[in-house]
Amino acid sequence: MDLTWSPEELAFREALRTWLAANVPAERRPHDPAAGAAFDRAWQRVLFDAGWAGLNWPREYGGRGLSILQQVIWYEEYVRAGGPPMGFRFVAQNHAGPTLIALGTDDQKAGHLQRILSGEALWCQGFSEPNAGSDLASLRTRGVVDGDELVVTGQKTWTTGADQTDFQELLVRTDPESSRHKGLTWVICPMASKGIEIQPIRKMNGRAEFCSVFYDEVRIPLSNVVGQVNGGWATAMATLGFERGTSFIGEMAEITLRLEELIEIAKASGDWKDDEVRRKLADRRAEVAALRALNYANLSRYARGEPPGAEGSITKLLTNDVARSVHELATEIAGADILDGDLERNRWGDLLQHGMVMTIGGGTPEIQREIIADRVLELPRSR
Ligand SMILES: Cc1cc2nc3c(=O)[nH]c(=O)nc-3n(C[C@H](O)[C@H](O)[C@H](O)COP(=O)(O)OP(=O)(O)OC[C@H]3O[C@@H](n4cnc5c(N)ncnc54)[C@H](O)[C@@H]3O)c2cc1C
Repeated sequence: MDLTWSPEELAFREALRTWLAANVPAERRPHDPAAGAAFDRAWQRVLFDAGWAGLNWPREYGGRGLSILQQVIWYEEYVRAGGPPMGFRFVAQNHAGPTLIALGTDDQKAGHLQRILSGEALWCQGFSEPNAGSDLASLRTRGVVDGDELVVTGQKTWTTGADQTDFQELLVRTDPESSRHKGLTWVICPMASKGIEIQPIRKMNGRAEFCSVFYDEVRIPLSNVVGQVNGGWATAMATLGFERGTSFIGEMAEITLRLEELIEIAKASGDWKDDEVRRKLADRRAEVAALRALNYANLSRYARGEPPGAEGSITKLLTNDVARSVHELATEIAGADILDGDLERNRWGDLLQHGMVMTIGGGTPEIQREIIADRVLELPRSR
C-alpha cells in the first residue's frame, strides 16, 4: 500500500472536511435506545444522501466504489470533526454489510446493502448465548430445516440493540449430531419475525442497550442463509474478522486525536517540564504509530481482496491496550477529573467507559490471545 496521499486523496480529504464542518450535528446522540436508533437512522440517511456512505462498497449496491484508503481518510476526518458515534449503525456498517459483500448471494446483496447504507435498516448480532460467549462454538440455539425454511428455537444474550434493529446476524446449530464448529448456520433473521421475544437488560448505569432474545419456532426463509447450511462457522469467522480487524479504524483515529489533545494539555501545564511525563507521552505516541501500521497492514490485505482473518485479533487486542494506556496517562497528567462528570458531554469519560466494555465486546483479551497463539502463530496447543 502506498502511504503517500495522492492529489486526488488530498482533494477528497478537503471536500470531506468542508462537508463535515457544515453538517456534523450539534446535538449529541441520545443515550435512550429508541431515541438513539432514530438518531442513527436519520444521520445515516444524511450521510447517504450526500454521498458519504459505503465509500468502498460496490457501486451497484449503493456504495461509492472508492479505495480503502479513502475510507481511512473518512474515519480520520470524521473523528476530527466530532462526528456522532456509530451507535446501532455499528453491526450493519462494520461487519454485517462487509460479510454480505464477501459471502452473500446477489439477491442478499441487492436486498440489504443499499438499505444498510441509507439508514433504512439497522442490524444486530445474535452470536452469544448464556453458555456460549468466549466459547462461541458451544452454542445451542437450534435451527431445523423444514422445506424452504429454517425453524429457530433457543436464546441469545448480550444482543446490542436487538429491540431497535431490523435484522440480525444469527448463528444457530443446524446439525444436532454435530459438535463445536461443525453443523452451524449463519442466517439473516428479520427481527419482526413471529416467535421472537426481546427482553432488554438494564446495566448498572441505567441504560439498556443489551437484550436477551428468545426464539420460539421462528421461521426464516432458507434463502436468508449466508454461506452454506452447516457451514456457518466460516461465515462467522469472516464476520468476526471484519468486527475485530477492520472496524477499529475509527477507534484508532479517536485514540490518535485524544493523545495529541493530551500532549497539548501536558504542554499547557507544568507537567511538560517533567522528563518522565514526556517519555510516557512519547511511548504512547509510538504505540499509536504501531497501531496505525497494523491497521494499514490489515487494510492493504483487505484491499487485495483477502477477507480479514485471525490477525484481526491482534488489532483488537492492541487497540484495547493502547486506549487503556492513553486513558491511564490522561488521569495521571490531568487528574481523575478528566474522566469524571457528565458522560453526555465529557468525551474522555465516555471513551474510557466505551474502551472498557469494548475489551469484552467482540471477544475478551484472553480469547484474542488464544486465537493469536493458535491461528496466527500456530503454536502447539497446551491441552
Ligand atoms: C459492550 C458489549 C457488547 C456486546 N454485544 C454483543 C452483541 O451485540 N451480540 C453478541 O452476540 N454478543 C455481544 N456481546 C457479548 C460478548 O461477545 C461476550 O460477552 C464475550 O464474548 C464474552 O463472553 P461471556 O460474556 O459469555 O464471558 P465468558 O465466556 O463466560 O468469559 C468469562 C471470563 O472467562 C475468561 N475465559 C473464558 N474462556 C477462557 C479460556 N478458554 N481461556 C482463558 N480465559 C477464558 C474470559 O476471558 C472472561 O474473562 C457484547 C458484550 C459487550 C461487553
